[in-house]
Amino acid sequence: MALVNIKEMLEKARREKYCVGAFDASTIEMAMKIVEAAEEKRSPVILMGLTPDLQQGNGAMLDYWLYCLRKMAEDATVPVCLHLDHATDMDFLKKCVDAGFTSVMYDASVNTLEENIRLSKEAVDYAHAHGVTVEAELGHVGDGIVSGEVKEDGDYDNPDDYLTDPEEMKRFIEETGVDCLAVAVGTSHGVYVHEPKLHFDRLDTLNAISDIPMVMHGGSGTPDDQIKKAVEKGICKLNIYSEMLSAYYGELKKKLESSGTLAIWVVKANEKPLEALKEVVKEKIDLCGSAGKA
Ligand SMILES: [Zn+2]
Repeated sequence: MALVNIKEMLEKARREKYCVGAFDASTIEMAMKIVEAAEEKRSPVILMGLTPDLQQGNGAMLDYWLYCLRKMAEDATVPVCLHLDHATDMDFLKKCVDAGFTSVMYDASVNTLEENIRLSKEAVDYAHAHGVTVEAELGHVGDGIVSGEVKEDGDYDNPDDYLTDPEEMKRFIEETGVDCLAVAVGTSHGVYVHEPKLHFDRLDTLNAISDIPMVMHGGSGTPDDQIKKAVEKGICKLNIYSEMLSAYYGELKKKLESSGTLAIWVVKANEKPLEALKEVVKEKIDLCGSAGKA
């Protein structure tokens, strides 16, 4: 019933001024918990696949993952989109379109504007011919303050240096035909070592120019009030991964350390970690304002 592409899901979100949480599902169990959380909240949800996960077993995992998650999405009582997160390999992106994703992201944001437009358009042409929607990225949401690229003078790779340029955005959307766009307004991927400061003026400007929904990456660790404000100012998709992992591994560590033996059934060891992950998903759904919008 519920498998949809990202365009219809996010256009509704944009009209009604809420945001849809997008969660990376590295395992089938994680995906099940994300869907459970969305069903309990009566919220639409985006399940994302990550290239390193999908390429396991010489690429065999791609088919297994989609086989299980398509079934999960079809059985769900809320709308679910299956979205490929951050592809940088065009051949792999095309494989994912062929294999059954309903939406894909092609991230050429480290390239020049010309090259980003050319590559994103290639992804759009291929995906749209197969009824699949596309997200691209303009400006660059880096891993800067995460991976500790701290330079000798104590400085770090500053996300403010890669903000999305409004003029470039206008041209990018027109020339590529993407369905939604990840913008850089001050967030970073991973776990922050400095609290991010979002550029809301820039977000206002971008939202006024954009006729497609905007996406925020680096949602994990971004303070709640800043996320809420970003949603008010037009962010329609929020990507979350690191916070789910912190919750999951935190509980798993406790379980393993407190257990007298390591011969624990996997399902037992995973019980609390997966519940903790589900709690994060539910909190983010509330923050996005998508509860009750299914
Ligand atoms: Zn991202």
